[in-house]
Amino acid sequence: MYFRLSTRTVISRLIIILCLSALVGYLIGHTFLLLSVSATALLIWHYHHLLKLFKWLWRSKSLSPPQANGVWGMIYDGLYRQMKQFRRKQKLLNEKIRRFRDGAEALPDAALVLSQDLLIEWGNKKASRILGIQWPNDAGQRIDNLIRFPEFTQYLKEGDFDSPCLLTSPINSDIILEVRMMPYGTEQVLFLARDISKVHRLEEMRRDFVANVSHELKTPLTVVRGYVEMVQSTDNALDPHWQKVFSTMETQVSRMDRLVEQLLVLSRVEIHADQEDKQVVNMPKLIQDLIDDSQWLNQEKNHVVTVSIDKELAIEGIENELKSACSNLLSNAIAYTPEQGHIQVTWQRAGDKACFSVKDDGQGIRPEDVNRLTERFFRVDKSRSRDTGGSGLGLAIVKHVLNHHHAELTINSQWGKGSEFIISFESKCIRALPNKVA
Ligand code: ADP
Repeated sequence: MYFRLSTRTVISRLIIILCLSALVGYLIGHTFLLLSVSATALLIWHYHHLLKLFKWLWRSKSLSPPQANGVWGMIYDGLYRQMKQFRRKQKLLNEKIRRFRDGAEALPDAALVLSQDLLIEWGNKKASRILGIQWPNDAGQRIDNLIRFPEFTQYLKEGDFDSPCLLTSPINSDIILEVRMMPYGTEQVLFLARDISKVHRLEEMRRDFVANVSHELKTPLTVVRGYVEMVQSTDNALDPHWQKVFSTMETQVSRMDRLVEQLLVLSRVEIHADQEDKQVVNMPKLIQDLIDDSQWLNQEKNHVVTVSIDKELAIEGIENELKSACSNLLSNAIAYTPEQGHIQVTWQRAGDKACFSVKDDGQGIRPEDVNRLTERFFRVDKSRSRDTGGSGLGLAIVKHVLNHHHAELTINSQWGKGSEFIISFESKCIRALPNKVA
């Protein structure tokens, strides 16, 4: 039911009561007395209901309000209506919260809801199993007070939540966790931790296997290569047929040697790099040395190589890895650019980044192949790549090296026109060369 009560109605009712009392008083000769009696009765009636309302609001446990007529009846009904609406909304909200919790409990991950100040507001059961964070006991604690690892503190400090952070579980060092954080609603942060111990162990086994096999292959390969070279260099001229056989053997052994070498480099760079291994790397010198070393590769093809190097631009990183990445891009440009082609090597600032780029006017790469280039063993044209001694591991090595150096690889290529490979280092890695520091 909906009541309408205007100020006019209230005032006119009051005036009617007072006028009637005055009239009756006038008729019996006690106007003022009757007026006072009716005004007092009115006041008592209102106070009586005010008291009833107070008792109902603060003491009574009953949901239904006291009964009354007139204006107080309307007030009680209005309050009752509001309470019912509020209860209905609360029920809906509870239902939604229950559904959210059921969903979060069904997740295979540990889930925590954090406030913007990273205080724990809620957590599921998995969070207590793999993180040791118990809700509601730990509610209101800061997450970094309970997960105390330097890498996690660094992750929070950097605030770049696009990529995950790998941690060991605070309660079981055998459990490896992949932690992700993301904004949730307007003022909360969702923290998800996934147990990736199995995947991690498999990945480790794969890495160890590749590293061990490559290492074990090195010695027999060196022996075979030695014998082949020995036979080729003997004074007794070999039968032309055997000459061809040994020359093919030498080529194939060299290919295998290069492949094994690349696999070992890849295994090394796949292992997460230590911050301590980093130092200021003299990139201008490193690049110039690589260009000088590549001269003999370039002899046959006679490429026109142009170089533009910022002599003061250095990077904080791991020298061997950076050398390997730059050398791969350079040797690819030489390998996949036909004779007399042009190669442009640049090491310059671009905005707040430092960019190493190798541009050639070779055959280029088809758009559909560009995204697959950094996959292991991916070669666009297997026969062409084999001719150039390619293993399909070079760009995979580059990708891993860049992961350790806050850098990314951009590939611009037009089929038939040429390619450009750009490594962009973020400004936080850029350093001035020691002798140039003011
Ligand atoms: P590979 O050892 O075979 O060169 P990479 O991983 O270095 O392996 O390169 C992967 C593939 O990308 C190569 O097989 C080649 O087809 C293609 N590629 C790399 N660089 C260039 C380039 N500058 N021009 C054309 N194709 C390229």
